[in-house]
Amino acid sequence: MGSRMFGTNGVRGVANEDMCCELALGMGRAVGAILGRRIAVASDPRTSSQMLKGALCAGLMSVGVDVVDLGMIPTPALQHYIRVRGDLDGGVMITASHNPPEFNGIKCVAGDGTECTKEQEDAIEAAYRTGVPTVGWHGIGTLTTEDGAADEYIESVIAGVDADAIRSANLKVVLDCANGCACATSPALLERLGVSAVVINGEPDMRDPAHLSEPTEDNLGELLEEVRNTGADLGIAHDGDADRCVFVTSDGRYVPGDLALAILGRYLVSRNGGGKVVITVATSMVVEDTVGAVGGETVYTAVGSPIVAREMAADGAVFGGEENGGLIFASHQFCRDGAMGLASMLECVVRAGPLSEQLSELPSYTTVKKAVKCPEEFKDRITEEIASNHPDAKVDRTDGLKLLFDDGWVLLRPSGTEPKYRIYSESRDANAAEKRSSEFVDEFEKTLGKLR
Ligand code: MG
Repeated sequence: MGSRMFGTNGVRGVANEDMCCELALGMGRAVGAILGRRIAVASDPRTSSQMLKGALCAGLMSVGVDVVDLGMIPTPALQHYIRVRGDLDGGVMITASHNPPEFNGIKCVAGDGTECTKEQEDAIEAAYRTGVPTVGWHGIGTLTTEDGAADEYIESVIAGVDADAIRSANLKVVLDCANGCACATSPALLERLGVSAVVINGEPDMRDPAHLSEPTEDNLGELLEEVRNTGADLGIAHDGDADRCVFVTSDGRYVPGDLALAILGRYLVSRNGGGKVVITVATSMVVEDTVGAVGGETVYTAVGSPIVAREMAADGAVFGGEENGGLIFASHQFCRDGAMGLASMLECVVRAGPLSEQLSELPSYTTVKKAVKCPEEFKDRITEEIASNHPDAKVDRTDGLKLLFDDGWVLLRPSGTEPKYRIYSESRDANAAEKRSSEFVDEFEKTLGKLR
């Protein structure tokens, strides 16, 4: 494991290599020491998940924690359970989300159902490193299983949308569960919403998944084809732990995540009669334009869904998310919420028209994304240097360096896990976006050469 165990999405590693039983056992003890005496756990259907969950639970119980095992359910279903119960001190999800099947991970949830803060993660990591003493035999914790969490989550999602309107629309969809956690919830949710669904990759088994569980266009070829072949109104896909949700139009076009944010943001702000939408500085201007056109306000944060979720709560925003399919609905819970994303998009299509038509109304932008190498020791200084080369541009330091121009922007953002910078360039004019992207890659490399 590297210097900091927790990355942007918990602790990740290859099962039985760096993500091993010993680590899960130690993490169980550390979580118990930091979060408290009553902890809920859940897992995705990865080959290593039961093994790691077993070790984690043993660690929790050995320091006196009473554990509630919710089984194989989506991360947002675990978060929903913790928030609604109210008497739990937190939770742990065993999942590597969208990573390849040999990976697994440990993600910690606070007592209010939101993802643990960086401070809580640091405290857990510190306890892991120093070790936590076990309790005497009489103080060992209990383990109970609870089967109802998936159902409670589904019912809560249904209560959060206009289920009657969805039921009377007789929609037909294709759902790709990616052999992951969505198998436990999304097919049942669609059935209860009266939606006729063709489910693909609906077996919860990631030993030999049909495709990688990152819901990108490249990984969803089967879904795009199935939507076209079946004449469905919509295609829907989740990542491995079903906290994210992406969409496909009836003509089999993949909807990039920032366009889904724009469409849902516009719909929810209109329905609410105004309000705020929270996105990150890496998200396309299409969201601000589209939400602004119906009287909504856009707030930008640093990259990271817990940061977006906390800003939404602080601002009283209606909606927020990231362009990778992470959608957060203030009316439901302050975390990425795959099933709520699915149900909200169904309502949006029923009320505001087919997805392909809604897409055609959006302004068009080109975003070019590149990555350049940058040794850790230059990560801070390089953006200072580059900013000083552009005294006329408007500068935004929310996350890395964002330079705003009349027709678009450039974002230079250090990777948290690799010796790299990501360089994003967006413009209404495709040529300008490409040109600026190349110019900034050149400038980055020249500046790095000067610093060396
Ligand atoms: Mg995920």
